[in-house]
Amino acid sequence: MEIKPNIGMIIVVGPSGVGKSTLVDKITAEMPILFDTVTYTTRSMRKGEKEGVPYHFVTEEVFKELIEKNFFVEWAHVHKNMYGTSREEIDQAIGSGRVVIMDVDVQGAKTFREKYPNSFTVFVLPPSIDELRQRIKKRDKMDEGELEIRMENARLEMAQASDFDMQLVNADFNSSYSQFKKVVEEIVKNR
Ligand code: 5GP
Repeated sequence: MEIKPNIGMIIVVGPSGVGKSTLVDKITAEMPILFDTVTYTTRSMRKGEKEGVPYHFVTEEVFKELIEKNFFVEWAHVHKNMYGTSREEIDQAIGSGRVVIMDVDVQGAKTFREKYPNSFTVFVLPPSIDELRQRIKKRDKMDEGELEIRMENARLEMAQASDFDMQLVNADFNSSYSQFKKVVEEIVKNR
């Protein structure tokens, strides 16, 4: 795996429920040079979430207004909701010398890679598709239909894992985390 110099953005991708946000939250807490963006979504809050954690929660109407105003550097429909990243937030973080880290879907990663060629992309894989199904069921209350949408999206996304700079299998969290941290430390050192 090649780590280019001057990486300014680390993009973490992978199917819903694979553990991306746990990886990103932990590393951001441990490495203050990293800046984790708070993106915008139209989805409803889950238990334990609130405005700003982990998203800015807005209505579809507000989201569409923000699109019109060119507020988002990138936005996409993911599952049945809309998600987008503020251009200003990214530019400010990069301008202040931080390394941006974020968790987006595959479409978002492609857009960011084009707009920010000095990015490093990580695809997080579950140990198996059955394990992923169990993790999602445990985390979110949803009907079978929605679960199947997520599983189908997961299969489609996982088929693209080799397009990313790094593939990380999240079987045992502590060991995946230490692999991930080693690479992020290397990226920060090479800047
Ligand atoms: P969840 O609703 O489970 O938190 O997230 C659903 C998906 O939306 C995840 O794959 C997450 O990475 C993705 N996501 C979150 N923010 C953004 C964003 O700003 N842009 C894109 N393209 N995807 C996002």
